[in-house]
Amino acid sequence: MSRRQVNVVYSERMGEPCHILITGASGGLGAALALVYAAPGTRLSLHGRNAERLARVAAQARQRGAEVSTHLGDVTDAQCMAAWIEASDRMAAIDLIIANAGISGGTSQRQESADQVNAIFAVNVTGVFNTIHPALPLMTRRRRGQIAIISSLASFRGFAGAPAYCASKAAVRVYGEGLRAEVARQGIAINVVCPGFIKTPMTDVNPFPMPFLMSAEHAAQVIRLGLISNRARIAFPWPLYAAIRFLTALPQLIMEWIVVWLPKK
Ligand code: NAD
Repeated sequence: MSRRQVNVVYSERMGEPCHILITGASGGLGAALALVYAAPGTRLSLHGRNAERLARVAAQARQRGAEVSTHLGDVTDAQCMAAWIEASDRMAAIDLIIANAGISGGTSQRQESADQVNAIFAVNVTGVFNTIHPALPLMTRRRRGQIAIISSLASFRGFAGAPAYCASKAAVRVYGEGLRAEVARQGIAINVVCPGFIKTPMTDVNPFPMPFLMSAEHAAQVIRLGLISNRARIAFPWPLYAAIRFLTALPQLIMEWIVVWLPKK
């Protein structure tokens, strides 16, 4: 699919999607994305686990003129996710899904526990599949739709301190890249989003300096613009993306030495 064709998909409202479904919308990047899209003529279907925080985001989005419905649940529950996504689509065809919910976990000085590894994969990988798979047949039928998968710049290398997180983000990035090529002819756009450090509750716990740390509002704007132009990979900020690409191009021995000395989450 060409970039232009996706803009045609959005043509109902000045090049913007009308019905947007976002997981993990009760805080952090998900809430910022909801508010960046909130405007008259937009319908937001927001998913989260914390009723109070989700209601607060919904109220702010309504103040900006959006029509909002909320759903409480866990992205690891495949049946509930399918039921909610199908019900949301019956209300109005979904134009854009943002599979945003995710968790991270550090190792500090110890190894990651098996439970932590499993939990990270359950949310960051299975949770993303549970979000996008119910939507694919609906979008395929009408040959229209867009799915954004929130991966990370951490997906380009396994870093000490967060091996499971890096691996989970690599899994969804690579899956999204393959899926993009597979469903392009069916009129569906898949975009993989690889942000650097964003100031959210997820990074507030990081005990190390985070280069190019950006606000969730700024990240949400960058993502929105990248999605409008249907970029296959929305990786930012560019200096950190360039640095990571440079590091991963180094000979393995040098790369390993650097990674061992990087601060751990
Ligand atoms: P956050 O912790 O503030 O928000 C994560 C959201 O996901 C929360 O709303 C949380 O309730 C939700 N969530 C977690 N587990 C869930 C579950 N099982 N079911 C439903 N919802 C669940 O973190 P954030 O920084 O806003 O992260 C949003 C996404 O961006 C994540 O996928 C994260 O990996 C990714 N990301 C974040 C950064 C960063 O620096 N903050 C960088 C790159 C990518």
